Amino acid sequence: MVSRVVFGRGSFNQLGDIIAPKRLNTKAPFIFLVDDVFKGNSEITSRIPLAYDDQLLYISAENEPKTSQVDELVEQIILNHKDRPSGIIGIGGGTILDLAKAVAIMLTNEGEAKNYQGWDLVKTPAIYHVGVPTISGTGSEVSRTTVLTGPEKKLGINSDYTPFDQVILDPELTNGVPKDQWFYTGMDCFIHCIESLNGTYLNAFSQSYGEKAYELCKEIFMDASLTQAEAQDKLMMASWHGGMSIAYSQVGVAHAMSYGLSYLLGTKHGIGNCIVFDHLEEFYPEGVSMFKAMKKKHNIQLPQGLCAGLHDDEFDIMINVALSLEPLWENAIGKTWKQVITRSKLKSLYQKM
Ligand code: NAD
Ligand code: ZN
Repeated sequence: MVSRVVFGRGSFNQLGDIIAPKRLNTKAPFIFLVDDVFKGNSEITSRIPLAYDDQLLYISAENEPKTSQVDELVEQIILNHKDRPSGIIGIGGGTILDLAKAVAIMLTNEGEAKNYQGWDLVKTPAIYHVGVPTISGTGSEVSRTTVLTGPEKKLGINSDYTPFDQVILDPELTNGVPKDQWFYTGMDCFIHCIESLNGTYLNAFSQSYGEKAYELCKEIFMDASLTQAEAQDKLMMASWHGGMSIAYSQVGVAHAMSYGLSYLLGTKHGIGNCIVFDHLEEFYPEGVSMFKAMKKKHNIQLPQGLCAGLHDDEFDIMINVALSLEPLWENAIGKTWKQVITRSKLKSLYQKM
C-alpha cells in the first residue's frame, strides 16, 4: 500500500515541503516527470519546486508507456546526473504515474524493464517515488502495478516496491481534463468496481472498497446536483477506492479484452474499456445497463467498427493477448472459465466492436 498520502484542494502546494527531507544531497536531484499537456501552463509548472540539479522532463501521454521508453528514460537520467536521484515525482494521469513508478524501480534494478513484467520479479527496493494524479479513475496512484507494453506482452510490473511512497491528491489539478477523457478514465474506475464486485476473487477487503467506489461513481455520473468541485473530489476518492478494491481481487472480462485491443490497435485503456464493456451485458447485466445510462446522460459517442476489416491473424493476436490474462478470466467466470471462454466466443465479441 501507499505509505503516505495527503488530500485536499490546493495540497499540491505542499510538494516542496514534503519532498525536501527526502533530498539525499544537493547533487542527487529530484526528477519530475510531467505530462506535456501542462507545458506552458504556469498555474501548474510554477508550483513545481525545482532546486539544485533537479530536472523536469515533459512526457507525452499520447501513447501508453512502453518498456523501451522506461529504459530510455532511465539511461537519460543516469547519463545526465552523477549521483543517483533523490526521487522521481510523476505528475499526470495513469500514463505518467506508471512511467514514474517503473523508472523508480529500474533505477535500482539491473537489466531491462521487460524482464520485470510479471509478478514479484523486482528484488531491490525502488528509489523514493511520489505520484500526483491530474485525472482520476485508473487507480494507478494507489496500485502495486505499473502497466507496460513490452516487445512480447502488455503486462504490469507487479511488486511490493511498485506503489508510491507518497501520493498527493489535489482534485483541483483535474480542472482542465476534457469531458470525453473525464468520462473514459472515470469509467475505468466504474469498471474496476463492477469487475471486482462481480468476481469470484471477491473478499471483504476488496468488497468494502469496491462498494464505496461504486456508490461514488453512481453519484458522480448520475446525480446532476453535485457541483464541479464536489464531483472532482469524489472522483479522486472513487479512483483510490476502486484501485484498492482490485488490489485485493482482480479485474475481469472488459480488461482482458481491452488489453487485446490495446496491444493490436494501440487503443488507450480508458476508451478501450468503454468500447468493450458496452458489449458485455451477458457477463455484467446491471453494470452494463448503468454504463449505458451514464453514457447517454453525458452524451458520449463511442467509436464503432474498430474491428471491422481486421484479418483472422489480427483477431488471433487480440485473442491470444486476452486469453493470456488467466487470473482475470478466473476471477470473472470461475475455475472452469476455459469451458465458456473459447476463441470463437472472443472473436464474435470483438467483431461487434
Ligand atoms: P492518461 O494519463 O493517458 O491521460 C489521458 C489524457 O488526458 C492525456 O491526453 C493527458 O495529457 C490528458 N490529461 C491528464 N490530466 C489532464 C489535465 N489535468 N488537464 C488536461 N488534460 C489532462 O490517462 P489515464 O486514463 O489516467 O491513464 C491511462 C493509463 O493508465 C494506461 O496506460 C493504463 O495502462 C494505465 N493504468 C494503470 C493502472 C495501474 O494500476 N497502474 C490501472 C489502470 C490503468
Ligand atoms: Zn483499468
